[in-house]
Amino acid sequence: MKTYTLAVIRGDGIGPEIVEETLKVLDRAGERFGFRFDYKPCLMGGCAIDQTGLPLPPETIEICKACDSVLLGAVGGWQWDSLPGHLRPEAGLLGIRAALGLYANLRPARIFRPLRQASPIRQDIIGEGLDIMIVRELTGGIYFGERGRTEKAGQPAAFDTECYTVPEIERIARVGFEMARKRAGRLCSVDKANVLESSRLWRETVLRVAADYPDVELSHMYVDNCAMQLVRHPRQFDVIVTSNIFGDILSDEASMISGSIGMLASASLGESSGSRAFGLYEPIHGSAPDIAGQGIANPLATILSGAMLLQYSLNEPAAAAAIEAAVNKALETKRTGDIFEAGYEKVGCAEMGNAVCEGLG
Ligand code: NAD
Repeated sequence: MKTYTLAVIRGDGIGPEIVEETLKVLDRAGERFGFRFDYKPCLMGGCAIDQTGLPLPPETIEICKACDSVLLGAVGGWQWDSLPGHLRPEAGLLGIRAALGLYANLRPARIFRPLRQASPIRQDIIGEGLDIMIVRELTGGIYFGERGRTEKAGQPAAFDTECYTVPEIERIARVGFEMARKRAGRLCSVDKANVLESSRLWRETVLRVAADYPDVELSHMYVDNCAMQLVRHPRQFDVIVTSNIFGDILSDEASMISGSIGMLASASLGESSGSRAFGLYEPIHGSAPDIAGQGIANPLATILSGAMLLQYSLNEPAAAAAIEAAVNKALETKRTGDIFEAGYEKVGCAEMGNAVCEGLG
């Protein structure tokens, strides 16, 4: 039987609880679709500090590099808040992204049909549901460009520089096109090419890469218009590809469309080989220390991150779709506290995990 190796970082707070449910769901999906996992547990965050003195022990990086992909719960907590910045749990997050060369951040913004009421967007705009994928460049652009303090017209001033190389734009554009190919086949590249030279290079480069993807319908949009269109008519989007800073802002805006932090998955991808890309998969929420250990956390964001892992890193799209369908089915009757509404059965973390496993058949 096909065996995938998966580095598993449970982390802190609710991390171990939500990861446990996700592994149950992945195992169940494997039984149904004919593959299995070899899990390699490793330490990161507060628990790593307690055991090794470091938020990201070198052994964790080695294990992750040797695996097909990485599943992460969440890290952090008040116990470690007084440590210096480079020794805090969150330093592990930045460190692992850099160490694994994860340059593409994928943030789906979606509304599951049973949760339509939770969205702050009007029901007639959402229609039957929403499913947008934002592909954000993660290791270049203005967050990594030259910066400094200077003087201008005799006054104190400061500057940050947006700079992209053609290879950096090409590789993120390819992630966008490949993603669109695996979805509805539409890619919108977002830039500010009416003003910024870096955006004009972005657009030229995306257009050139498009020649390799004649099956994908490409459009371009200015970032200010995109921010407006995400609220006015979000269903027009399938995949959005954009720079680091624009993606940072637009993915936060788009994620709010879903209305619940406990439902939002994410992936950070590195280099691909064939149809498989190495990636780190995690919920967008944190370690929720306020509810840790109570068995009441919503595991669905992590379970959905597991579905993304199957789709984008392991090329098992049928298993990924089955997990998403099972999540939808579980939500029709059961809710954890964070998404609870009258008329539904209130369940804990493990019961929600079990419900998704049952939905997988
Ligand atoms: P948080 O996302 O952990 O929690 C915010 C609120 O949402 C809390 O009330 C929490 O109970 C609730 N919540 C979050 N996830 C939930 C879930 N799955 N089910 C039910 N409720 C959920 O953000 P925070 O409180 O600002 O941060 C807590 C810790 O997590 C901090 O140490 C922070 O640095 C860390 N953090 C880690 C990550 C990560 O690991 N990627 C991301 C963000 C924050």
